[in-house]
Amino acid sequence: MNVKKTAFGMNGFGEPVDCFTLTNATGLRVRIMNHGGVILSIEMPDRQGKLADIVLGHDTAEEYTADTPYFGCIAGRVANRINKGHFTLDGTDYQLAVNNGSNHLHGGERGFDKRVWTATVLDAQNGVRLELLSPDGEENYPGNLSVSVTYTLTEKNELKIRYEAETDRPTLVNLTNHSYFNLAGHDTGDCGEHELTLYADTFVPTHANSIPTGEIRPVSNTPFDFRSATLIGERIDADDEQLNFARGYDHTYCLGTTGELTLAARVVDPHSGRVLEAFTTEPGVQFYSGNFLEGNMRGKGGFIYPFRGGFCLETQHWPDSPNQPTFPNTILRPGETFTSETVYRFSAE
Ligand code: BGC
Repeated sequence: MNVKKTAFGMNGFGEPVDCFTLTNATGLRVRIMNHGGVILSIEMPDRQGKLADIVLGHDTAEEYTADTPYFGCIAGRVANRINKGHFTLDGTDYQLAVNNGSNHLHGGERGFDKRVWTATVLDAQNGVRLELLSPDGEENYPGNLSVSVTYTLTEKNELKIRYEAETDRPTLVNLTNHSYFNLAGHDTGDCGEHELTLYADTFVPTHANSIPTGEIRPVSNTPFDFRSATLIGERIDADDEQLNFARGYDHTYCLGTTGELTLAARVVDPHSGRVLEAFTTEPGVQFYSGNFLEGNMRGKGGFIYPFRGGFCLETQHWPDSPNQPTFPNTILRPGETFTSETVYRFSAE
């Protein structure tokens, strides 16, 4: 299959953007733009072969520049939150932008989600490689960081995302894809009736401001236990302190730390039969149930995304790692290569 490249207009900074369409023989079609490395759409068949676009987003590159809930993007240099935007590395203090309450979120004011990446079509792999140089001091992070993100679509209906990064000074790296999925179709409603399995025994509880307390808590006997398939909506409004803090699920689940590709989550929409499985080498997956979609966000085709209209499975390191000595390390040093892989596998049953 040939990867198709088309012009995708300008982003809000007046920079030209391209769109890359990956298609496979079973009819799966994925569109990616080089602004933010955003997955614009994933069209996949249901159990009857009927296609639907299962990710939330906007119609134009420009809309992704303004106030956006990080639809489909690559978040970085450090995805997720850093308490008060502050960390110390090798004895030096760094102050990052505080762009989410009292926290730093998803790389700051202009994170990787709002940068135009250099794209190379990889026809032989049915993919596209995106590269970015994040200069020393960008968003106050130390070190020139060269990052690449490679998306490939296989004939087994897998969308593979491979990340690599290198630096010339010690720095922090935590990268993720921030797609909001709704397997019934992006323009259908909330995702409370999706059945979710999360293959994790523990999660990371937070304070009211979404910063981890430092505890690793077993999911057993809590509404966070998704070790057997459970509807996302079944316990989401339970009177539970952690759910109340986040208006639903917005928590990191702890996975293995071996760096092996392992199954983190499986989601089924029982109505359409569409299935999404997420595999990752990362030590965590942030399950976010779209609680900050307020029902006022105009998306693709003019559809207004409702409260909890999509869910994210953000494979990544744990939040606030730079300030949490017991969490898996997010420091990258010169001479090291950061590598990470996540695979979203699509099927119908
Ligand atoms: C966070 C949410 C946040 C959202 C931004 C997620 O990764 O966990 O708390 O609101 O990103 O849209």
